[in-house]
Amino acid sequence: MTEQPPVIEIRDLHKSYGQLEVLKGVSMSAPRGHVISLIGSSGSGKSTMLRCCNLLEDSQAGEILFEGEPIRWKGEGAARRPGDRNQVLRIRTNLSMVFQQFNLWSHMTILQNVMEAPVTVLGRDRAETEAKAREYLAKVGIGDKCDVWPAQLSGGQQQRAAIARALCMEPRALLFDEPTSALDPELEQEVVKVIKALAEEGRTMLLVTHDMRLAHDVSDHVLFLHQGRIEEEGPPDAVFGNPQTARLQQFLSATR
Ligand code: ADP
Ligand code: MG
Repeated sequence: MTEQPPVIEIRDLHKSYGQLEVLKGVSMSAPRGHVISLIGSSGSGKSTMLRCCNLLEDSQAGEILFEGEPIRWKGEGAARRPGDRNQVLRIRTNLSMVFQQFNLWSHMTILQNVMEAPVTVLGRDRAETEAKAREYLAKVGIGDKCDVWPAQLSGGQQQRAAIARALCMEPRALLFDEPTSALDPELEQEVVKVIKALAEEGRTMLLVTHDMRLAHDVSDHVLFLHQGRIEEEGPPDAVFGNPQTARLQQFLSATR
């Protein structure tokens, strides 16, 4: 059996916003079927790292690979950009992102929200996409909400619709950026349940979260980011149960 390359891999990635160096050489690998969580305090670079993975941000040095295929850059340093538009589009549509603010289109029904990108961006068949969209909405527990407007749903339901929308792209991996942070505690659990079910299905996921219990329960591997460096990483039992560095110990005691 040939070993499959990781869905996403980054090697020694450096990223600055002007003079501010936010990522100071980070490396990470998300093998197929694994859940990788990113934890760390606010401003440590978690969102930036996630956004670099699907090329929503440029980076100045290091490698990004999608299924073993390196990004083809043109230029160097501050001038470095992905040089192949088709490659960028292919990667971006294969790494669906779920944001803290669900960003549903308010003028479209829930079903239209979920169908929009597969039909208009990927050019998929409308009837087939509708059937899939209904399936994914049922899967996240809001199959009865197809014809309502986003404003008619609770925050937890809107976030589940956003997850169904990401799933309907049938991506290779899901990227979550603090998907439960905007929700009231009682609604948070509805979304946690969905994320756990997706992890159990063996979906490849990159998860930025402030919810340490969720990170502990779903992850195969946890990365602790501190001031743009990976300060510590390992399996969840080790990272949460036996943290080695003072910084991680301090971070975890502050979040408990
Ligand atoms: P986290 O998600 O861990 O809270 P971010 O990746 O959002 O951290 O931000 C890391 C650092 O980069 C912070 O200091 C933040 O202010 C800065 N930053 C993030 N986005 C931008 C941007 N578009 N322009 C300038 N600075 C930014
Ligand atoms: Mg963030």
